[in-house]
Amino acid sequence: MDKAKRLKMKLNKDKLKKQLQKSQELKATLQQKSSTSGKKEKSKINKTLVKKIVAEENKKTKTDAKDDKLTPLQQKFKKKLAGAQFRWINEQLYTLDSKSAYKLINDKPELFSIYHEGFRSQVESWPSNPVDIFINQIKNIKEPVIIADMGCGDAKIAQTFENDKQKTIHSFDLISENKYVTACDISKTPLKKNSVDIVIFCLSLMGVNFIQFLKEAHRILKQGGKLKIAEVVSRFTDMNEFIATLNNMGFKLLKKNDKNKMFVLFEFKKLDKNENNNTKKNNTNTGTNDEKVLLKPCLYKKR
Ligand code: SAH
Repeated sequence: MDKAKRLKMKLNKDKLKKQLQKSQELKATLQQKSSTSGKKEKSKINKTLVKKIVAEENKKTKTDAKDDKLTPLQQKFKKKLAGAQFRWINEQLYTLDSKSAYKLINDKPELFSIYHEGFRSQVESWPSNPVDIFINQIKNIKEPVIIADMGCGDAKIAQTFENDKQKTIHSFDLISENKYVTACDISKTPLKKNSVDIVIFCLSLMGVNFIQFLKEAHRILKQGGKLKIAEVVSRFTDMNEFIATLNNMGFKLLKKNDKNKMFVLFEFKKLDKNENNNTKKNNTNTGTNDEKVLLKPCLYKKR
C-alpha cells in the first residue's frame, strides 16, 4: 500500500473516532443538563442536540460511499457510532411525551431511519418477532376485519395483507416511511369512534403519555373489539397493576402469553358499560394512571 493510501485511511479512521467521541459527549451533556433543567429548558436543549446529531449524521452519510474502503477497525467505529445514535433516539422516544416525539422526528426525519435500523437489528437478535405472531393470528381470521396498527414502523402487517380484500389495515407512525403508513401521533388518530375490530400496539407504548394511546384505542374500537399488545418483559414493574389499569379503562383481559423471554403478549376485549362495571367490582388490583409506575423505558445496552 502506498504512502498516500495509508494516510487517507488514517484520516478516515481519525474522522470516525472523532464522530464517535462527539456523539458520546453530546449524550453526556444531555444527561447532565436534563437532570438540572426544567421541562421547557430541556426541550430547548433537545432541539440543539438534535441539530448537532443530525449534522454529525450528515457528515457520516457523505462518507458512506467510501464504506467498502473502510478497514475492519473503521467499520467497528462506524457501527459503534450508529449504535450510540440509535440508543440516544430510543431514549428520547421513551422519555418524551408523544407531542414532543412527533415534533422531534418530523423536524429531523433522518432520525427515524437511524432509529428503525437500530430497532430492526435489536429485534432480529430475538428468537422471534412479535409482529410475526400478530401476522399469524390475523391470517387465521376468515371474516372481514378492520385493524389499526398503532406505531407500525414500516407497516409489515399492512404489507403482508396488501392483496387480502377482507382485511382493512390502518397503519400509523410518527412519520410515513412508505405508502402504507399514515403519519400521526397515536394518542390522536384520524379514525372514527367505534370503527375498528382490532387495535395493535406492537412494542409501541413508547411515549410517557402512553395511557392516552390506550384511551385512543378504546375510543376507536367497536364494542367487543380486541386490543392486542406486545411489550418488552423488562419494562413491567407489576403486570397485574398494568392489567388493572386497562380494566379501569374498560378492557377485559382475554389472554396473556409470557412464554417468550423478551416480550409479553396481551389480548383484551373492549367491554360495554354494564360488563365494565362488573369487571371493576371483581378486581382487587386498583390500577394507576401513572405511566412511570406501569412501564419503564426500554433502554438498550451498549453492545
Ligand atoms: N410495530 C412495529 C414497530 C415497533 S418500533 C414493529 O413491531 O415492527 C415502535 C414504533 O412506535 C416506532 O416506529 C415509533 O416511531 C412508534 N411510535 C412511538 N410513539 C409513537 C406515537 N406517539 N405516535 C406514532 N408512532 C409512535
